[in-house]
Amino acid sequence: MIDTSTIRIEKIAQSRINELDEDNIPFGKLYSDHMFIADYKNGEWQDSRIVPFQNISVSPANTTLHYAITIFEGLKAYRNKDGEVVVFRPQANASRLNISAERMCIPEVPESLFMESLTELLKLDSDWVPSKPGTALYIRPFVFGTDEYIGIRPSENFRFMIITSPVGSYYTKPVRVKIETKFSRAFEGGTGFAKAGGNYAASLYPARLAQKQGFDQLIWTDGKSHQYIEESGTMNVMFVIDDVIRTAPTSGTILKGITRDAVLTIARNWGMRVEEAPVAVSEVINAAKEGRLQEAFGVGTAATIAPIAAIGYEDDIYDLPTADDSFFSKKILKELTGIRSGEIEDQFGWIYKI
Ligand SMILES: *Cc1c(COP(=O)(O)O)cnc(C)c1O
Repeated sequence: MIDTSTIRIEKIAQSRINELDEDNIPFGKLYSDHMFIADYKNGEWQDSRIVPFQNISVSPANTTLHYAITIFEGLKAYRNKDGEVVVFRPQANASRLNISAERMCIPEVPESLFMESLTELLKLDSDWVPSKPGTALYIRPFVFGTDEYIGIRPSENFRFMIITSPVGSYYTKPVRVKIETKFSRAFEGGTGFAKAGGNYAASLYPARLAQKQGFDQLIWTDGKSHQYIEESGTMNVMFVIDDVIRTAPTSGTILKGITRDAVLTIARNWGMRVEEAPVAVSEVINAAKEGRLQEAFGVGTAATIAPIAAIGYEDDIYDLPTADDSFFSKKILKELTGIRSGEIEDQFGWIYKI
């Protein structure tokens, strides 16, 4: 076992915290003072260290640059009502990282290493966790192959890193999505369930075409028939049809969102009807035409709960009712926000205090 209590810490000479303006946080552009690094060599994780955020160097023959041997996670730290720093379900991210790792021939990152590095980094950079409503410190753990080797084979050396970035809200207004019926994000036997870099590279072109048509995001459908809803680019999607919360089951093609799980858990606890079963595009479109599509929204760490304002399908656009406080999506966002801030009891044990 690695001894995680031996994280070497090299502090920044002068904090950059004055660059953080909580009222005006650019998404994904500002990084906190420090970052965590561990290297995998000779079959074990070693040399755990926290150093000032800085560039890293790799060989031009780095295997990840050529073949995308890389996986990542995304989670958030929040400041609760008492000013403490809390993280939402980090152990779930640790275990999902290892599900992604196996598919990419990347060695497991022990949960103890994941948790200890995260904890130490957040302790050191706790000033970077903003407190304004809607803000958080986004945490990005990732692992990539570091071999200097141009042939195609699993990497033998890896780096595990964590960087963090203060964020405001991701989408400030309801999103317009297009149901994609030509391109695919994932297919049976592929890598859709893994948070693996290549999945996102492959999604950019179809997403750009949709953006040119005035949409913010795609809703992916199954790669075979394009008749069943899968998920969105970085969020799972849910529909409320005839008072039932509908979402696709997670299988090999859908990323198993932790927000998705939290939303379904709370909904069931509230006694709502939840159906995790294939959602046909035709059902959603017919429900929209008949006024039975009450709500549609995306759920994910980055976007939190993102109400969908319009759905494009083939040549038509279906506008959805604007979410008000009576909507499930609004209530669930309030609940999750309350659990994170400590105003609502954490009955499911989701909050990890730093
Ligand atoms: C990260 C991600 C999600 C959301 O997962 P959370 O754990 O809720 O953040 C959904 N879909 C895809 C494709 C993702 O990459």
